[in-house]
Amino acid sequence: MDLTIISTFRCNSRCQMCYIWKNPTEPKEEVSIETLSKLPGGFDNLNVSGGEPTLRRDLAEIVEELYPKARILEISSNGLNPERLVPIIKRHPNIKVRFSLEGDAATSNAIRGEKDGYQIKLKGIRMLREAGGTDLGFAMVIQDENADQLVKVYELARSEGIELATSTLHNAWQFYKNDNYFYNRAKTAKEVEGLITAMLKTNKVKNWFRAYLNLGLIEKILGHDRLIPCTAGSDFAFVDPWSDVWACNVRSDLPLGNLARQDWSEIMNSEQARSSLGKVSACTQNCWMVTTARTAMRSRLVPQLPKLSPMAWVIYNKLKVTMGGKVDFASYIDYDKVLETPLVPRTSNLGRSVKAEIKVQRGLMTKEEHYPLAEFINR
Ligand code: SF4
Repeated sequence: MDLTIISTFRCNSRCQMCYIWKNPTEPKEEVSIETLSKLPGGFDNLNVSGGEPTLRRDLAEIVEELYPKARILEISSNGLNPERLVPIIKRHPNIKVRFSLEGDAATSNAIRGEKDGYQIKLKGIRMLREAGGTDLGFAMVIQDENADQLVKVYELARSEGIELATSTLHNAWQFYKNDNYFYNRAKTAKEVEGLITAMLKTNKVKNWFRAYLNLGLIEKILGHDRLIPCTAGSDFAFVDPWSDVWACNVRSDLPLGNLARQDWSEIMNSEQARSSLGKVSACTQNCWMVTTARTAMRSRLVPQLPKLSPMAWVIYNKLKVTMGGKVDFASYIDYDKVLETPLVPRTSNLGRSVKAEIKVQRGLMTKEEHYPLAEFINR
């Protein structure tokens, strides 16, 4: 199982597609190490995210607590405080680190509202590489503003000897956002084809399956059904800063329990978890983020291997591209069927003085008060 720990809702970026930074938690109400120590071992991917996890003063202790409990421990960071990760990477070089990067300097800084963010991240990833980091990479949220730079960012990552993870605009309680819509779905989706082809041309098996994952992103951008049904709550889950455990980070009506008050096995075997899992099986959202896609692609029988359908797609298209052919995207994607969406403008917060809406004692609020946007639409 994969688990994401949303360690804080504090963040020093000002992204246009995520409003965590407007809704910060207070350090004293954030999930404690004592609570995290209740997690069992044996997770596949344990991701420490946020908000910005490097803002947690106790990040190194969190890492020490979680490192033995997972096959892969990941830190998802905006990359603005790379020096805080250096001692962690020196101690555990195989920790997976992903820095958010949204395109070239002007585009990335504008989307993320970060003055000089691009330069800091690039320098930071090199610092981590020098510290011995063996699993480093960028993470990019594909949107209208940066889709034409996808291949360039991928080439930049390759030239730095690191990975590129991709996701697309989506709405979620985690992001305090329900108005992330594409302006031009077909154009944005088409841009992903270049990345898929570039990934299939490499000699890394991991990249070939990432190519399939990106095929799913095209479907997501166009508003189509997922390639493979979602397994939220059984193959992955999220812990929020208040220690509430959720089947996913999108729908705020899929709670599983609370790690501060309950044991992990109690949570997973609870009536509440059963009820939320029932809703997952009927969920009609078409999320296809890394967590939901990666877990859905895994074989039920041998989780280290992919399911047959992605495997067959990868083998067929890798051979085709190797022999000089092209992926026949039209045979997989129905570009005539593009879902309409309302036009909701996104505004860069770069250089704007937008204040966070600090609410004291948010920890005492109900889940509904924590996540007042009740509806999340990802179609
Ligand atoms: S498809 Fe439904 S259950 Fe799965 S991650 Fe999206 S909202 Fe959650």
